[in-house]
Amino acid sequence: MAKPGFTSTILHADRRSEIEHGSVHKPIHTSVMYGYEDARDLAAVFQGKQAGYSYGRQVNPTVTALQDKVTLMEDGLATVAFATGMAALGSTLFAMLRQGDHIVSSTYLFGNTNSLFNSCIQHGVDVSFVDATSVSAVEEALRENTRLVFVETIANPRTQIADLEKIGELCRERNLLYVVDNTMTSPYLFRPKSVNAGLVINSLTKYIGGHGNALGGAVTDTGLFDWSAFPHIYENYRKGDPSGWGIQQIKKKGLRDFGATLGPEAAHHISVGADTLALRMERACENAFKLTEFLSRHPAVKAVYYPGLPDHPQHELAGRLFRSFGALFSIELMDGVDCFEVLNRLQLVIRSSHLGDTRSLGIPVAHTIFHEMGPERRAAMGIDDSLLRFSIGIEDADDLLEDFDQALQR
Ligand SMILES: *Cc1c(COP(=O)(O)O)cnc(C)c1O
Repeated sequence: MAKPGFTSTILHADRRSEIEHGSVHKPIHTSVMYGYEDARDLAAVFQGKQAGYSYGRQVNPTVTALQDKVTLMEDGLATVAFATGMAALGSTLFAMLRQGDHIVSSTYLFGNTNSLFNSCIQHGVDVSFVDATSVSAVEEALRENTRLVFVETIANPRTQIADLEKIGELCRERNLLYVVDNTMTSPYLFRPKSVNAGLVINSLTKYIGGHGNALGGAVTDTGLFDWSAFPHIYENYRKGDPSGWGIQQIKKKGLRDFGATLGPEAAHHISVGADTLALRMERACENAFKLTEFLSRHPAVKAVYYPGLPDHPQHELAGRLFRSFGALFSIELMDGVDCFEVLNRLQLVIRSSHLGDTRSLGIPVAHTIFHEMGPERRAAMGIDDSLLRFSIGIEDADDLLEDFDQALQR
């Protein structure tokens, strides 16, 4: 067979390694510890001389199977899973950065990531927030002590798209670690490895799990970054092939020492959800595309932000890099149209936070998830008080169109 496609690969990922009793799903292993007949084997596992399981905070067979699946999805080298997407991000930063370092980050950020970077500043790691839709803004912000560049693919809620390719080129030239949060696109729509990312973050809670029943996060090493040039790899982890140094340090200093471990039950839910990632994405993106076409012509709607619309500033870039334009958009309503009332009139769309679910969700972002950051930071991110964000699910398109139509009629 030629190289199998995305879904064929994911569906049969678990069977690549031996599964107990011919089980088709990797079973849920709940044991915290692992016993050995020969204590020498236990020692060899602890010393990394022998493959094996030691303690549940660091490794678990069910979680390992999911990590391997994510690695295949991202076409990467290795993946470490965490309890949440934020845990993946926070643990990675903690493992890789030191006081006195500098990060260049897109200013268009998931709210809690923005909060996390502000904590970094309090702990002595400086962060420059720049308009990452232009590579020159990133380049101008670079300093001698810049250790990494961070961007999201499609920003939430205004759907700005980072200058992904050119920033990747810049990072390659300068030997900088390029960290891309791929949550909004998921590896089905986009592989950050294709633009030279060294590390890829995914919130497994969102599209990959997809069913709103489990939290999880992952960091994948694409194999492209030269860790031997990174100054903060501890002596202990500078052993063997340098391509493995980064993920090893994230495993030890991030996962093991911080302990934000993904549980085996959650890993199982996410793994089953991931089987249908491509199908769900296709459907949800098509629904979002149809809805934004309708909304952009609607007299009660002032603005629609969606990369699939021809007037989106990065429409061409999105069309070239992503398999589709995503399933998330936001709208601003005409003056005098109450955003809360429009949301309240929706029947199919759930008034809720979260995104990347099978069900359509809507939220007034300035009043909820982006409330804590305050009006100034919101203005810098282009978040109007009336902005409504929608994460579109896999409902029937006609039903969604009818629902928005009736909600916008006064
Ligand atoms: C949700 C989200 C996260 C955090 O993921 P959790 O699993 O909720 O911790 C990080 N980045 C982006 C872009 C997200 O949308």
